[in-house]
Amino acid sequence: MLERAQAILSRQPKIVLCEYDTPVQRLPRVEALLGADHIYVKRDDLNGVGPGGNKVRALEYLLARAEADNADVVIASGQMNSNLCTLAAAACCKRGLRCILVHNNPESARQEGNMILNQLLGVERIFIGEKPESERNQFVAELVGKIRREGGTPFVIENGATTPLGAIGYAHLPVELVRQPAHTEIQRLFVPGGNGGLAAGVIFGNMILGYPYHIHVITVENTIPVLSKTLEDLWTNMARLLDVNEMPNTSAMTFHGDYRGDGWAISTPQSDAAIYVLAQMEGIFLEKVYTSKTYWGMADLLQKNKWPGACLVHSGGFGSLFSQFA
Ligand SMILES: *Cc1c(COP(=O)(O)O)cnc(C)c1O
Repeated sequence: MLERAQAILSRQPKIVLCEYDTPVQRLPRVEALLGADHIYVKRDDLNGVGPGGNKVRALEYLLARAEADNADVVIASGQMNSNLCTLAAAACCKRGLRCILVHNNPESARQEGNMILNQLLGVERIFIGEKPESERNQFVAELVGKIRREGGTPFVIENGATTPLGAIGYAHLPVELVRQPAHTEIQRLFVPGGNGGLAAGVIFGNMILGYPYHIHVITVENTIPVLSKTLEDLWTNMARLLDVNEMPNTSAMTFHGDYRGDGWAISTPQSDAAIYVLAQMEGIFLEKVYTSKTYWGMADLLQKNKWPGACLVHSGGFGSLFSQFA
């Protein structure tokens, strides 16, 4: 199954940005706290690019496409503290690619968190003012037109890297995990469901491995029906890109909508408290938007169900932490 999964994932070209398997660590003090056995964290926040974390795996596929298309500039867009923007910038630096970040915030915004990292990375930044995402996309489309007219070849990272190609990056996570020593104790993976790229990828990877894990998706952004529809669309297109005739079996996954609070980037008292718990008990930093809600969801479910063999996928966001507590 492992060889088959690896063969499937090699059907699309990728560049190597994560040069090693991300660590799997056991959390003994959290085990004692929650009364559940064998709790692990897969440290995708330590993947070796910039502040680390989610979207670096997606960028391995997206930048491979950019390079294959001979792009001479990569454009990423998002809010000024977007983790994607910083990771795209860091990855472009590593590959020697020019990078432009488009932020829908005012230029005068205070420099904090990821913005400081973007400044150190030296990439070009355009602030278009407080605008909705649709207007930001419109701005990017016009920028692309202008660069093309001037003879350039831009590559746009769309939808926060949540595209079928980008989601293939995250299908590597379970495939990597089954080669790591701790995997024999792990039965359940807990992942955040934001735009859905990470969850879609992990679930797809679990499928091509023959379902070694049950995947728990903690929604942090959209409602379960909206997220489920996004995932189905992603799987359909991932299957096409990888020439697979299979869709994930829904019995190998559970969606949890109770930890989202009032939506994206609005933390809850429990998720805020979780940041202190994991820092003070294990020396691991979570942030407010994704990882603390996911950890709190896992902790609450383990406290209630005492499932052994849980593993949190730590999706990073370290840079944004410094804007959240500033
Ligand atoms: C973007 C992001 C996620 C969510 O990933 P999606 O693919 O959008 O669901 C999770 N964690 C961090 C730190 C992120 O930056």
